[in-house]
Amino acid sequence: MALLGGPAAGALAAAAPSVFWLDRADRPAPRPRLDDGGQDGRADVTADLVVVGGGYTGLWTALLAKEADPARDVLLLEAGRIGWAASGRNGGFCSASLTHGEANGRERWPAEYEQLHRLGLANLDAIESTVQRHGIECDFRRTGELTVATAPHQVEWLREEVGSGGATRFLDRDAIRAELDSPTYLAGVHSPDETAMVDPARLAWGLAAAAESLGVRIVEGTKVTGLQRDGAGMRLRTEQGPDVRAARVALGTNAFPSLVRRTRLHTVPVYDYVLMTEPLSDQQLASIGWRSRAGVGDMANQFHYYRLTDDNRVLWGGYDAIYHLGRRVRPSRDQRPQTFERLAAHFFETFPQLEGLRFTHRWGGAIDTCTRFCAFYGSAFDGRVAYALGYTGLGVGASRFGAAVTLDLLDGADTERTRLQMVREKPLPFPPEPLAYAGIQLTRWSLARADENAGRRNAWLRTLDRLGLGFDS
Ligand SMILES: Cc1cc2nc3c(=O)[nH]c(=O)nc-3n(C[C@H](O)[C@H](O)[C@H](O)COP(=O)(O)OP(=O)(O)OC[C@H]3O[C@@H](n4cnc5c(N)ncnc54)[C@H](O)[C@@H]3O)c2cc1C
Repeated sequence: MALLGGPAAGALAAAAPSVFWLDRADRPAPRPRLDDGGQDGRADVTADLVVVGGGYTGLWTALLAKEADPARDVLLLEAGRIGWAASGRNGGFCSASLTHGEANGRERWPAEYEQLHRLGLANLDAIESTVQRHGIECDFRRTGELTVATAPHQVEWLREEVGSGGATRFLDRDAIRAELDSPTYLAGVHSPDETAMVDPARLAWGLAAAAESLGVRIVEGTKVTGLQRDGAGMRLRTEQGPDVRAARVALGTNAFPSLVRRTRLHTVPVYDYVLMTEPLSDQQLASIGWRSRAGVGDMANQFHYYRLTDDNRVLWGGYDAIYHLGRRVRPSRDQRPQTFERLAAHFFETFPQLEGLRFTHRWGGAIDTCTRFCAFYGSAFDGRVAYALGYTGLGVGASRFGAAVTLDLLDGADTERTRLQMVREKPLPFPPEPLAYAGIQLTRWSLARADENAGRRNAWLRTLDRLGLGFDS
């Protein structure tokens, strides 16, 4: 696809460098920090369970812990604001997949894939029922997902996907364009059951309110800087506040440096970028169709994902997946003009009918990529600390499952989840720098070449495939 020019020129001019989902009047006021009177002054604070991280993983952990045992005293510590990181800035595709898609799951865990699929659907159903039970207004809609082919070799891939079963329906060029009209589409597949669209920030805010309604204490602006054993429990150091003592600690820290050092090489922060348009008029929406309102993704290695919001804006993201040398998460990396220009150009190539539409917001965020593309789980400090990390761009739904596994591990419980090979195995780590950077750049380059070369994978990608390693977003 061409970079810039045409209708894209100017469409970005007034786009604010901020996150549409978070930049809203109904964003909850910041909760107090641990050190400014919200808790017990500077004396040690105690809890049965401390959850570190106020994204979906941490919020689900707190909520599920309290639902399972209302007497458990649960305290959640968030360094920034609830949902400010990946959980409040994602595409809002809430997928049933626990394995970053069926192909990845079947490839890695063929013997237990059907079980993983069933557990994933049950997880999505449980998210839906929680949203209803707690009245969380996050525009949860089980629209399903459309996967589109924009190059001839992808049409064959789509046919194979439908052949592998499920409730998916193959749509030829006319059928897909009758659903959503782009001159770039050659075919598509609609999977109706396994994805819901959500308003991501409102889901995070709603989960926090639900957890608080059950008695969870939440503090914001409180960064945990270290963990150490303390008697039979753990002591957590905080940057400015008092220490916290807890019997058990759950970590939902995603792409940020893990408090369990040995997991640090297992993930890299990869930056993913998004544009949001102004609301489409009824006429503009009619010009492209999209009656199902399903989330859409294309089949390239460097893929785009897009969806409608409740007020008929289009969120348009993906394609570039940027890794910076050194594994660091930095706010300055949330903006990348060359990626926004590329995304804008691709948008108007996909939907030329929307010429004249403008973008109102542009942002990016860090994804915790691991070499198996889906979360891994573990515990440390003799089972007093547990974590779920490495969702690699598909954690909106899977984070609830990650939270449930984290609690199983902390409780020392033998469950269907903890018996899974997927839960018991860890991915291979990335190498240290600068090898990680060099390897990822080579992999990105190779993936882009494969997209241009009818999907054919070069020797480097084939080697990674054989080793079960990779890079994705
Ligand atoms: C641009 C973008 C688009 C995406 N689109 C999708 C999508 O459409 N569908 C999908 O399924 N997934 C998507 N994802 C991925 C998804 O958002 C994440 O997998 C998911 O939000 C992870 O949730 P989390 O709670 O683990 O992490 P986060 O939401 O990142 O939360 C981690 C929290 O931990 C806090 N924290 C970290 N360290 C400390 C510490 N030491 N002390 C205290 N607090 C700490 C951080 O401040 C942060 O709030 C996307 C991600 C991005 C960035």
